[in-house]
Amino acid sequence: MSATQKVGRSGWYILGKEVDQFEKSFADWTHRKHVVGCANGMDALEMGLRAAGIKPGDAVLTTPLSAFATALCIVRAGGEPVYCDVDAHGLLDPEQVRRALKEHPKIRFIMPVHLFGHVADLDALGDITREHGITMIEDAAQAHGAQRNGVRAGDVGRATGFSFYPTKNLGAIGDAGALATDDPEIAQAVHTLRNYGQSKKYVHDEIGLNSRLDELHAAIMNEAFLPRLADWTARRRAIARAYLDGISNPRIQLLPGPDHDGSVWHLFPVMVAENADRDAFMAHLRQAGVQAGQHYPKLMPHQRAMTERSEPPRVVGELPIAQSFADREVSLPIHPYLTDDEVKHVIDTVDQWTD
Ligand SMILES: *Cc1c(COP(=O)(O)O)cnc(C)c1O
Repeated sequence: MSATQKVGRSGWYILGKEVDQFEKSFADWTHRKHVVGCANGMDALEMGLRAAGIKPGDAVLTTPLSAFATALCIVRAGGEPVYCDVDAHGLLDPEQVRRALKEHPKIRFIMPVHLFGHVADLDALGDITREHGITMIEDAAQAHGAQRNGVRAGDVGRATGFSFYPTKNLGAIGDAGALATDDPEIAQAVHTLRNYGQSKKYVHDEIGLNSRLDELHAAIMNEAFLPRLADWTARRRAIARAYLDGISNPRIQLLPGPDHDGSVWHLFPVMVAENADRDAFMAHLRQAGVQAGQHYPKLMPHQRAMTERSEPPRVVGELPIAQSFADREVSLPIHPYLTDDEVKHVIDTVDQWTD
C-alpha cells in the first residue's frame, strides 16, 4: 500500500505511528538517540535553543551568512544573535569565534551552520565550546548525513536542527523539520514544546508552539525518500566532482569545500573573480537555460528586520569574507536528477563566459 493510502485509511493524520517510525529511522540515519519531528527546520532550531535553556536576551553566536531562518530562530527563542566572520568555505571561522568570545564574554550559545552541505569545523568549535562552557546547537538544515573527516553534522552539538523543506537534500512534500539529540531531557522538552507546551493531556506547563509533524509527510519521507537519500547524496557528490574537474574558466573560482566526499553538496557555490560582473555571469547562465542562485546576497545582520530592531545587530569585526560571498557567490545547479548531458552543458556554459 502506498504511504498516502495508508495514512488516508488510518484516519490518524498528526503525530502518530508514522511520525514515530520516521523519527526512529532518521535517528538511525543521523546516529542520534532521539529525533523529534516538527513543522519545519526553523521551529526545530528555536525549540532546540529553548529546550537547552535559553533565557531572554542571551547572546547566541552565529554566522552572518545563512538562510535568514538561522537568525530568526534565535530572536524567536528570545536570544540576541552575535555575528562573526566565516572561513574560505563560508563556514563559521573558529578564529573569529575566539575573538567574538573575547569581545562578548556573555555569549552562552553558539549556532554553527553546515552551509552548502559542508560540515563546519566541529572539532575546533567543540573545543572552544567546552573551554568556554557554552552550548552548541547545530543548524544542519542543509547537511543531512554530511561528514567532515569522519565527524558528522550533529556529532558535537547538544542538539541539531534539520529542515525537510522540499528543496533540501531530504525534503517532504511540504514543510517539515526535526531536532536530533542524544540528550533525553532535550528530546522530552521538545516533545512538550512542539505540542502547545502540553506535558500531559490538558496540562500546559510552559508557552509552547504548534509545531507538529504530519503523518503523511513522515510516511512519505520514511518509505519513499529516506531510502533514496544515500543514492541522491552519491549523485550530488558525482556532480560536484564533475564541476570541480571540468570547469576551467579563470574568472570563476571553484570552492572544493573542506571534505569533498563527506560533504552532501546541498549547493554548489562558486565565486566570480573580484573584478568580474556577477550579474553578467548570471545573465549568461540564464540565456543558456542554466538556473543559478545566490547564497546569500544580503548578510543577515544587514537585513532590515534586524537593523530596525530596538537592539542593533552585534557584529564582530568587519565580516570581509562573508561579504565576499554576498557580493560574488553564484550557486550552480546541483540536484540528484540532473543528467550527465545537463552537467556537461553547465560546465560548457560556465567555461564560455568571457564577461
Ligand atoms: C532551510 C534552512 C533553515 C530553515 O528551515 P525551514 O524548514 O525552511 O524552516 C534554517 N537554516 C538553514 C541553513 C536553512 O537552509
